[in-house]
Amino acid sequence: MTAPTALAIVGVGKIARDQHLPSIARNPAFALIAAASRHARVDGVENFATAGEMLDAMPQIAAVALCMPPQARHAIAADALRRGKHVLLEKPPGATLSEIEDLRRIADAEGVSLFATWHSRFAPGVEPARQWLAGKTIRSVRIDWMEDVHHWHPGQDWIWEPGGLGVFDPGINALSILTRILPPVWLTGAELSFPENRAAPIAARLAFRGSSDMTAEAVFDWRQTGPQTWDIAVETDGASLVLSGGGASLAIDGRVVSQAPEAEYDGIYARFAGLIAARQSDVDIAPLRHVADAFMLGRRTIVAPFHDQPGDTH
Ligand code: NAP
Repeated sequence: MTAPTALAIVGVGKIARDQHLPSIARNPAFALIAAASRHARVDGVENFATAGEMLDAMPQIAAVALCMPPQARHAIAADALRRGKHVLLEKPPGATLSEIEDLRRIADAEGVSLFATWHSRFAPGVEPARQWLAGKTIRSVRIDWMEDVHHWHPGQDWIWEPGGLGVFDPGINALSILTRILPPVWLTGAELSFPENRAAPIAARLAFRGSSDMTAEAVFDWRQTGPQTWDIAVETDGASLVLSGGGASLAIDGRVVSQAPEAEYDGIYARFAGLIAARQSDVDIAPLRHVADAFMLGRRTIVAPFHDQPGDTH
């Protein structure tokens, strides 16, 4: 058996605690030995305020998982890659397309693995959906990704800043599934709703075209209260497919054919181990490119201000 990869985590916040730390603990291919975060600590490992201090002090770190918001990722990722570390990027992989190209170039030059993760692609219904759709003629796709931002992102100011993507932060998960299970599409129109006091949209409607007259539309909305919706419906020239619950459940013609327990981040770390062993990278920018296209082509409307908490002065 080969020794586990000495891993460090950077940016110890919600997703690091909810998903990364438990999945790393379950995977014998990794040994978590350090964490870098300005305000948080991980029990049982060495802790540092910054990634740079951590990598200076612990050259035995072989890989880093970057879990901070996207705007802060490129500089830390580039430094780690140049030091010969394998790098895992939370989604979205960065704040711009070009900075990810830069990271890919550095990873190739250094001969290390760069993994731009898309956790929704590891949802249990996604691979069966991809296999079922392969070779079929697709007529139309409808995506509804509607959730309550107050519930899922309380106090997260970065998400409303440039590069935080606003409602595309969850919406890009739908786009990561779309770009995995269906033939290529391109954006033909978009409407983006910006709260008058924020720099990122709270809702978006997107229209796409694909070859053979295939169409796709997506509605992302952060103002959804009550039941939350993360559905992708696909009409083919025969049966129809619905992936619901963010990819958790797959139904064909209304009959559920796949419903397995969620294990997205276990899948991510298994894939990262495989990439490191093979000295390969996995960097697919297609979901982020659609978001960039939406910002480029989208018509902007101004809507009611968004207040995180009653009385916030934003
Ligand atoms: P978060 O809790 O707001 O941030 C994670 C941590 O990053 C913070 O606790 C903070 O730790 C550090 N950080 C924040 N701003 C920083 C900056 N400017 N420079 C350096 N470090 C900074 O966010 P999150 O919800 O975990 O999301 C992080 C990433 O994971 C995002 O890209 C998000 O899309 C993705 N993600 C989130 C979820 C979710 O359910 N929340 C699910 C899947 C993916 P310190 O202050 O201690 O440094």
